[in-house]
Amino acid sequence: MDVIVGGGVAGLSVAWRLARAGRPVTVVDPAPASGASHAAAGMLAPVSEVTFTEEPLLRLGAASLARWPAFAAELAADAGLSSPADLGYRADGTLDVAFSADDLAALDETAGFMEKLGLRVQRLTGRECRRLEPMLAPSVRGGLLAPDDAWVDPRRVTAALLTALEWLGVAVVRARAGELVRDERGVRGVRLSAGAGDSWVRHGGPRARQDDLEVRQGGRGASRGGASRDGSYPEEIGAERVVLAAGAWSGGLAPVPVRPVKGQIMRLRSPEPLLGRCVRGMVHGQPVYLVPRGDGELVVGATQEELGFDTRVTAGGLYELLRDARELVPGVTELEVADVVAGLRPGTPDNLPLIGPGGEPGLFLATGHHRGGVLLAPLTAAILLAGMTAPGARAAPSAADVTAHRGPAALAGPADPVDQTDPAGPAGRMRPAERADPVDPAGPAGRMRPAERVDPADPAGRTSPAGRVPAARVDPAGRVGGDALVGPDAAVARDLVALCSPGRFGS
Ligand SMILES: Cc1cc2nc3c(=O)[nH]c(=O)nc-3n(C[C@H](O)[C@H](O)[C@H](O)COP(=O)(O)OP(=O)(O)OC[C@H]3O[C@@H](n4cnc5c(N)ncnc54)[C@H](O)[C@@H]3O)c2cc1C
Repeated sequence: MDVIVGGGVAGLSVAWRLARAGRPVTVVDPAPASGASHAAAGMLAPVSEVTFTEEPLLRLGAASLARWPAFAAELAADAGLSSPADLGYRADGTLDVAFSADDLAALDETAGFMEKLGLRVQRLTGRECRRLEPMLAPSVRGGLLAPDDAWVDPRRVTAALLTALEWLGVAVVRARAGELVRDERGVRGVRLSAGAGDSWVRHGGPRARQDDLEVRQGGRGASRGGASRDGSYPEEIGAERVVLAAGAWSGGLAPVPVRPVKGQIMRLRSPEPLLGRCVRGMVHGQPVYLVPRGDGELVVGATQEELGFDTRVTAGGLYELLRDARELVPGVTELEVADVVAGLRPGTPDNLPLIGPGGEPGLFLATGHHRGGVLLAPLTAAILLAGMTAPGARAAPSAADVTAHRGPAALAGPADPVDQTDPAGPAGRMRPAERADPVDPAGPAGRMRPAERVDPADPAGRTSPAGRVPAARVDPAGRVGGDALVGPDAAVARDLVALCSPGRFGS
């Protein structure tokens, strides 16, 4: 079994991709989707975010952006949503605007750099900017349109990921991982630690038993190395591999150079959408952006502060955001304040993420995504899926699995990670919304499990082999289960994998 520590957008995306590929997975997080992913604006904007010193990050971002349409479509289907638009996914570009002659000169320079990199950008006059976005301030002197940039609503994305995981039978254990469990062979699992009033276990999945579904309080009665004496929860969860995806908190569990970078952000509400696309600008030397949602919400962000694990929302932070946003779009001050929040970005010394083997057997990393974890989610999941399912990527033979939880393989019988590829993926499976939910006091136990669903790719209409769920196969072009890692060129994929490799910090 693979255990994912951290249920933010990174951990949940990895868990979803692994589970879809047939790997038994458990996610451990005391409060899934409550970290930086809850705060994030959701810009998928590698082009407009590019700086002269961050070309490698741009390459990662562009590769992940290219994966977003398929990622969003598959996630929407697995979560029972009618389309990617239900995730707030839109691909209408970003407009970067300038106020002063200096701003304009800087934008011009950026445009030249982007063009040199072969990125699609369009220089606009002030009037052209206002034609695109009539609510822009009259003082806008010019701008740069990056038509390929997109955005999503990260809260909807993480909610959809949790729904998809539940459907796939993935346990989400609502507890904190206190430490990694190691033996002479490497990382063997995680030891859970309770916070006051923690709900220890919330277990879902099509075949979860009623006792798995119970939510128990506190940690009393736990026995070392196994389920608690009363059988309510395990103190440790054994794993073949552990994926550390605990965002800004990752450094508390393994020696990774990840630090918290505070970001304050606000959500405003207007009866009608004020903007048609993301708008960004530099005001008083500070970057500010506005991200519209289809329902009239307008996200204004974000501060960048090096204050450790401080998540207080401050008057000064909000004042600066509103002051600068008003320079771009004066109408924002009329809007209702819906939400203010501070999140902690998981920053690294070079701003690149840590994705891949974690320097000791059994440990993988999916952390350090800093400003771009939402953008990089599809690429993160693809890199880890390829790395963890590649031949030879297996950890040392597993000790007895001490978990009391049941992932998909435990539910569906032993999964063979090598030879059960379902080339059609789960596209033909029933979506949650279509599932018949039997009136069953035992909860969702009567639902069809993935292994019982009819494989649409099978002309004979047979079900997948009993007791098996589809697993990933990596083909020579670097594709995983028919899912291209990054375009058709495996060398490019390897190159990107190298950029994120935790090995660059000697871990
Ligand atoms: C204000 C703001 C705006 C942003 N805007 C954007 C944007 O527009 N586009 C973009 O791509 N990115 C954006 N980001 C960055 C993005 O939010 C992050 O890069 C991304 O959310 C990181 O995801 P994560 O899953 O690694 O971390 P998180 O979302 O922080 O998740 C980490 C999870 O780990 C859990 N955890 C912590 N410790 C433990 C433990 N010991 N045991 C178990 N679980 C644990 C936490 O409960 C949490 O759920 C923004 C960030 C902020 C703060």
